[in-house]
Amino acid sequence: MIPFLELSRVNQPHEERIRLAMNRVMESGWYVLGREVSAFEEQFARLCGVRQCIGVGNGLDALTLVLKAWNFPPGSEVIVPANTYIASALSVTLAGLTPVWVEPDPHTYLLDPARIEAAITSRTKAILAVHLYGRCCEMDPINTLAQQHGLNILEDAAQAHGALYHSATSVTRLAGSLGDASGWSFYPSKNLGALGDAGAVTTNDDQLADRLRALRNYGSIQKYVNEYPGHNSRLDELQAAVLSAKLPFLATENARRRTLVRLYLTGITNPAVTLPPADRIDLDVWHLFVIRHSRRDELRAFLSGRGIGTEIHYPIPPHRQEAYAAYKHQSLPVSEQLHREVLSLPLNPALTDEEVRYICDAVNQFAPC
Ligand SMILES: *Cc1c(COP(=O)(O)O)cnc(C)c1O
Repeated sequence: MIPFLELSRVNQPHEERIRLAMNRVMESGWYVLGREVSAFEEQFARLCGVRQCIGVGNGLDALTLVLKAWNFPPGSEVIVPANTYIASALSVTLAGLTPVWVEPDPHTYLLDPARIEAAITSRTKAILAVHLYGRCCEMDPINTLAQQHGLNILEDAAQAHGALYHSATSVTRLAGSLGDASGWSFYPSKNLGALGDAGAVTTNDDQLADRLRALRNYGSIQKYVNEYPGHNSRLDELQAAVLSAKLPFLATENARRRTLVRLYLTGITNPAVTLPPADRIDLDVWHLFVIRHSRRDELRAFLSGRGIGTEIHYPIPPHRQEAYAAYKHQSLPVSEQLHREVLSLPLNPALTDEEVRYICDAVNQFAPC
């Protein structure tokens, strides 16, 4: 049996370090907004190459709080990729803003810069650049559009810990430093995962960072003095300590993912399978390894019959969800087709070469008549 993802196996190499970190927090007697959170914020900001990191409760809150902190007029529009995880879109509606869905590039599954411009109106205030599956969006043209139209860029980097973008005009930079602010999730299954919910914002905007530090803590900087009607969304000490214990190994774990990706890319020879884009193997961090097949559900059942667990990221596009019933008549054919065809094969640092070879063989054997 090869399960899609077994988190106990992924965390096993860190067990000793995690236990020490948890004991340290337990014994400190200080469990919310203390030394561990500050230390993790400092390390994660450094990793992303930005000045500020603000730990929050989860990835959805990270995105939502940035959009709230920007204080756009109610009803302002935010460009959102139509094929993203619903949390990206929820941040927009939770902030009282309107998502405008834009179709992805069918080869990279990322926001298609050529389609963004047509979606911009006088009410557009921001672009939500989702680095889906661990690959950075085409930031050069997106930045140009944002500058031309005076838009803010919020990166949804929840799947892109350590991902790089090679800009034609500047140096290669990390996800989390490519826009005005970036929302991160450390949900357990992410490339950098806590043992529960956790999130953060990274930014070079010191004023935004101050506002976010207040917004995550009831709108208060000084205890019992409240400047904003804020939230309670803090990264807690225990999760921060776990993340600090795992952070030094992120680069090695991403490298291991890339090694397995190379095995997949050479091992899968089934002509009916579309492989993910392989032009930036060493820049992308491969949160997921997503293939496509026109008979996806049959392939999934076939692999399941051979003991291989797979997932679909994602089975229903946000505009087809009950939660967004107002958009259900909108036609977004590229996204709808992707949602019918995508299948995620197991990919995590604990997976063995033999397991990947076994999965490739099974995928190659799938030939429905
Ligand atoms: C996981 C994820 C989120 C939400 O993060 P949570 O910590 O689960 O709230 C947002 N966007 C994307 C693309 C994600 O993968």
